[in-house]
Amino acid sequence: MENRIYADHAATTRLRQEVLAEMLPWLEGGFGNASSLYREGRAARKAVENARRGVAALLHADRNEIFFTSGGTEGDNMVLRGVMKHAGKRHLILSAMEHHAILHTAEALEREGCAVTRIQPDKSGHISPADVEAAIREDTALISIMTANNELGTIQPVREIAAIARAHGVLFHTDAVQAAGHIPLDMAAMGVDFLTLSAHKFGGPKGIGAIYIRRGAACAPFITGGAQEHGVRAGTENVAGIVGLSRALALSCEEMEAEAVRLTALRQRLTEQVLRIPHVRENGGEPRLPGIANFSFTAIEGEYIAMMLDNAGIAVSPGSACASGSEEPSHVLTAIGLDRAAAKGGLRISLGRENTEEEIDRIAAELAIAAEKLRHMSPTWSAMRRMGMAE
Ligand code: PLP
Repeated sequence: MENRIYADHAATTRLRQEVLAEMLPWLEGGFGNASSLYREGRAARKAVENARRGVAALLHADRNEIFFTSGGTEGDNMVLRGVMKHAGKRHLILSAMEHHAILHTAEALEREGCAVTRIQPDKSGHISPADVEAAIREDTALISIMTANNELGTIQPVREIAAIARAHGVLFHTDAVQAAGHIPLDMAAMGVDFLTLSAHKFGGPKGIGAIYIRRGAACAPFITGGAQEHGVRAGTENVAGIVGLSRALALSCEEMEAEAVRLTALRQRLTEQVLRIPHVRENGGEPRLPGIANFSFTAIEGEYIAMMLDNAGIAVSPGSACASGSEEPSHVLTAIGLDRAAAKGGLRISLGRENTEEEIDRIAAELAIAAEKLRHMSPTWSAMRRMGMAE
């Protein structure tokens, strides 16, 4: 594992030592059930409620508006299914480049009789608020547009869309799984009704997340059982996970400004070098998250490049981690207008806390070597050369 470079922080991040230290007491001595009335239970309850207060303060929300979940996928399911079940209306608006946690849930809701409109992004990977407004119908119950895209890193005009939703009396959800801990999220200023986040994307543990539900916004319980989380999300609380999430979010918010400057400079350094490699294009435009870059390589599949980089000691991803192994090209890259072949040539490099300038230079150099080797092996490239379409 020595000397490996990890550049897939949009897939997951390393658990921070400070976070682990905060979690350990709740995995060892502090094993009480937060619902128990005796001392061990009360200690666990106190830890959960402190964490809830901490998360609420960081999001500029009220503590009664924060609910812990098992992660981003559950949060997204909870809001979509919970709202559509509760609302008398059956129409749902989303972007065509949402994470599968939203897209596949919407498909399931469609099979249950909901109507879904999918808004196409522009070529730079952004959703137009005017397009969202034009899609609103009498029976629209919910609009769900992600804060930042997980493949391109593009940041969406969430405030504008939230204002439009409110003006039309429609609820608004944003999947902020990639944004949380990386850009400021202020519930009061953003004007959203629901927001999803997940701890493992910002140095916290896997399997724990949170949703913000604005006071008064209605969302039927998705998981039924005990009365935990005010009956919104049943199940014994993951005390260590909750404590870890809160600590990881606090650390990320403290370091956010400086990290954004550092990561933006690293991403620009990477992009400059990668675009010097022949037949490469950059996908997605500004505004975007500091750490996520996305490139397409003509006539070479991103999966092969990622495999070669893995052999060279570098972890990057051809698109999102959840879609790997799939034969289909990235739905995000096709949504921004890339044809099937170009979309299969996509490669996401997502930078994080541990990455350095030296690592960026090594990634770019190994990428140039891999692209050159693979191009020589590519049958598509040979055919293009025979037809005079490539040198
Ligand atoms: N939404 C987005 C935008 C994501 O990037 C991810 C994870 O990749 C998820 C949702 C799912 O989150 P989790 O892995 O916590 O289930």
